Amino acid sequence: MHVQANAALISHNTLALAAQCSALATVGDAEGELVAALTWAKENGLPVLPLGEGSNVVLAGNVEAMVLRLQNRGIEVLNESAVAVELRVAAGENWHEFVTWSLQQGYCGLENLALIPGTVGAAPIQNIGAYGVELCSYISRVHARDCTTAQELQFTRDECAFAYRDSIFKNALRDTLVITAVDFTLPRSAAPHTSYPALSHALELLPGGGGDSLTPQAVFETVVALRQSKLPDPKREPNAGSFFKNPVLSEQQFVELSQANADVPSYPQADGQIKIPAAWLIEQCGWKAHRRLDQGVHAQHALVLVNYGNSSGADLLALASDIQADVNKRFSIALEIEPRVYGKPNE
Ligand code: FAD
Ligand code: NAP
Repeated sequence: MHVQANAALISHNTLALAAQCSALATVGDAEGELVAALTWAKENGLPVLPLGEGSNVVLAGNVEAMVLRLQNRGIEVLNESAVAVELRVAAGENWHEFVTWSLQQGYCGLENLALIPGTVGAAPIQNIGAYGVELCSYISRVHARDCTTAQELQFTRDECAFAYRDSIFKNALRDTLVITAVDFTLPRSAAPHTSYPALSHALELLPGGGGDSLTPQAVFETVVALRQSKLPDPKREPNAGSFFKNPVLSEQQFVELSQANADVPSYPQADGQIKIPAAWLIEQCGWKAHRRLDQGVHAQHALVLVNYGNSSGADLLALASDIQADVNKRFSIALEIEPRVYGKPNE
C-alpha cells in the first residue's frame, strides 16, 4: 500500500479537473493492503472515496478524503458448463479489456457494453448500460468491504436494486463501501441484442446484413466503431460521457410534453413510463455546441460537457446548472446530473 498526502487528481479524472485530495492510497492485489488502507484512513479521521478511472465523476474542488485506487487484478472461473460460465472479476480490472477477453473465451452477453471507460468495480455503481443492454442482466453477485469497519460484504443481484443507471450503491449505500470483485454469469451462446436502432442500422450495413449468422464478436466490433465515430475521446476532449440522465416521464407528463412538442423523440419503458433523450431537450434550448470560456457543450453530442482547457469543476457545474434551468423553464423537466460530484469549490 502506498499513501501520498495532498495528491493531485487531475490525471485521475477524465474531465481533467484540477483538484487535490487529502491523501491518495494505491492498493494492489494483497487483501491485507486494502484493510491496511481503510485502517489508515480511520486512524487519520478521513472518509474514504474509492476512485476507478474517474470517468464518471466531477471534482467540484478539493476532496477532503482518502481517495482509494484499488488496482487488484484477476479473473477466476467459478463454474463452467456447456451453456454458461460464472466468473469472479477483480474490481481493478479495466472494463473494456474484460469485455474483450470474455468474447475471446467464447462467452457472450457483454458485447453491447464494449468500450465503456472505467473499471469493473465501478460498473455496478450506476449499472452501466449502452445500446439496449444493462450490466445487471449479467451480474450474479457483488463483493465489497465496508469503508469504516473493513468488514467483507456480499450482495446478490436482487440486493443491488439495479435500475436505469442506478443501484443501491448510489442510494442507501452511497460512499459506504469499496467494491472488491464482481461475479458474472455469461452464456456460451445467445442471440445478440440488436434492437437498438443505431446498432441495428450499422449491423445492416455489414456483409450478410446482420442476419442469423451475426456473431457477438461482430456486434462488439460494430459497437466499438459506432462509439469511436460518435463519442469524444476524453484524452483529446476531456469529458465524463453523458452529463445528464435521460428523464423518464409518466404517461400524463409525456402527453403534456408531446402536445406542445409533436417532434419529441420518445422511448416507452416496460413499466409504462416514457424515456426522453436529454440531448434533444438540451439541443432545443440552444445549448448544443455552446462554449463558455474553457467549458462547453460538445458540438456533435449535446449530452457531453467538455473541459476545453483549464475549466474548474465549479465552472462546469455552473454551466450544467444554467442548462438545467433552461430545460426546466421550457419543458418543466428537471434534468439530473449523471456523474457523481465530489469536493468543495476551491476558495
Ligand atoms: P469512477 O468515475 O472512478 O467512479 C464513479 C463512481 O463509482 C464514484 O462514485 C466512485 O466513488 C465509485 N467507485 C469507483 N470504483 C469503486 C469501487 N471499486 N468501489 C466502490 N465505489 C467505486 N456509462 C454508461 O453507463 N454507459 C456508457 O455508454 C458510458 N459511456 C461513457 C463514455 C465516455 C466517453 C465516458 C467518459 C464515460 C462513459 N460512461 C458510460 C460513464 C463511465 O464510463 C461509467 O460510469 C464507468 O462505470 C465509471 O467507471 P470508473 O472506474 O471511471 O469510475
Ligand atoms: P443515441 O443512439 O444517439 O440515442 C440517444 C438517446 O436515446 C440515448 O441516450 C438512448 O438512451 C436513447 N435511445 C435511443 N434509442 C433507444 C431505444 N430504442 N430505446 C430506448 N432508448 C433509446 O445515443 P448515443 O449518445 O450515441 O449513445 C449510444 C449508447 O451509449 C446509449 O445507450 C447511451 O446510453 C450510451 N452512452 C452512455 C454514456 C454515459 O456516459 N452514460 C455516454 C455515451 C454513450 P439510453 O441512454 O438509455 O440508451
